[in-house]
Amino acid sequence: MEGLVIKNTGSWYIVHTDEGSDVNCKVKGNFRLKGIRTTNPIAVGDKVTITVNPDGNAYITAIKPRENYIIRRASNLSKESHIIAANVDRAFLVVTLSHPVTSTTFIDRFLATAEAYRIPVTIVINKTDLLTEPEEHEYCEAVTYLYRSIGYDVIEISAKEGTGIENLRNRLVGKVSLLSGNSGVGKSTIINDLMPELDLRTAAISDIHDTGMHTTTFSEMFPLPEGGWVIDTPGIKGFGTIDFDRHEIAHFFPEIFNISCNCRYSDCTHTHEPGCAVLEALADHRIAESRYNSYLSILDDTNPDKYRKPF
Ligand code: GDP
Ligand code: ZN
Repeated sequence: MEGLVIKNTGSWYIVHTDEGSDVNCKVKGNFRLKGIRTTNPIAVGDKVTITVNPDGNAYITAIKPRENYIIRRASNLSKESHIIAANVDRAFLVVTLSHPVTSTTFIDRFLATAEAYRIPVTIVINKTDLLTEPEEHEYCEAVTYLYRSIGYDVIEISAKEGTGIENLRNRLVGKVSLLSGNSGVGKSTIINDLMPELDLRTAAISDIHDTGMHTTTFSEMFPLPEGGWVIDTPGIKGFGTIDFDRHEIAHFFPEIFNISCNCRYSDCTHTHEPGCAVLEALADHRIAESRYNSYLSILDDTNPDKYRKPF
């Protein structure tokens, strides 16, 4: 039987079979990633083959090649990584412009990481009902315009009032989607809007009791009434940090990358070099200062002493 892994509790997995039943499975065989030690060989979103033995025990015996996967270090000290999800069609980054303010650095780091993972992103601006002053509306429009002009999908919603939820729902139907964002931006409220039957909080809490684990978070996929799945990654607000190669970072900022082909030096870091097309574009406001600062902040991670903001 073939199916989709919808839950990973550490020692076993729930596989939703193509026939529509949910089967508890263990893993048989070696599905380790080459060169990377992971805490889980199989992840939520994996498409697998299962075999049910005569004694009733079910095993995952094969896995389809992954389209993509999200991985992060299991903890700061650990050499092991944890595969959070596989075969994600789209990530939805929920942000708010007030209560709380999502920083553009956080947004841009998320987008850059998603580029590295080759996962398309929709930016969901929530709590638009809280925007009252004209300046707040203007700021919201500016944010929407900025990210759309780079090529990202942006929608404005109010989970509280239900405005724009249809635009979100349309994008989720039939797909595997990841909902991310800082705590307090309204992810649970959105999930409740989308799946009123599901009590996410209760579900998450009962998991903790079942496994007795508080440190490791396990992902889970929830079915949408219209078809499709939403992945919940408890306690994980973004993708975590990726170890970028400093020459690669610009690749993950599409508008910076487009312009960087005109830089004089092919190994240009776009910080100080003569003939840097990115610095020129920045001066002409063809690249947003906030985006460039986010680029620098990631570059800073790779070599904290060498790169300093030019302003
Ligand atoms: P999560 O931490 O991302 O899951 O955020 P929650 O869904 O728990 O929401 C955090 C707070 O924001 C709650 O008090 C919600 O009622 C509130 N909230 C969520 N969406 C909206 C919205 O669209 N407008 C307003 N005004 N408040 C919202
Ligand atoms: Zn340059």
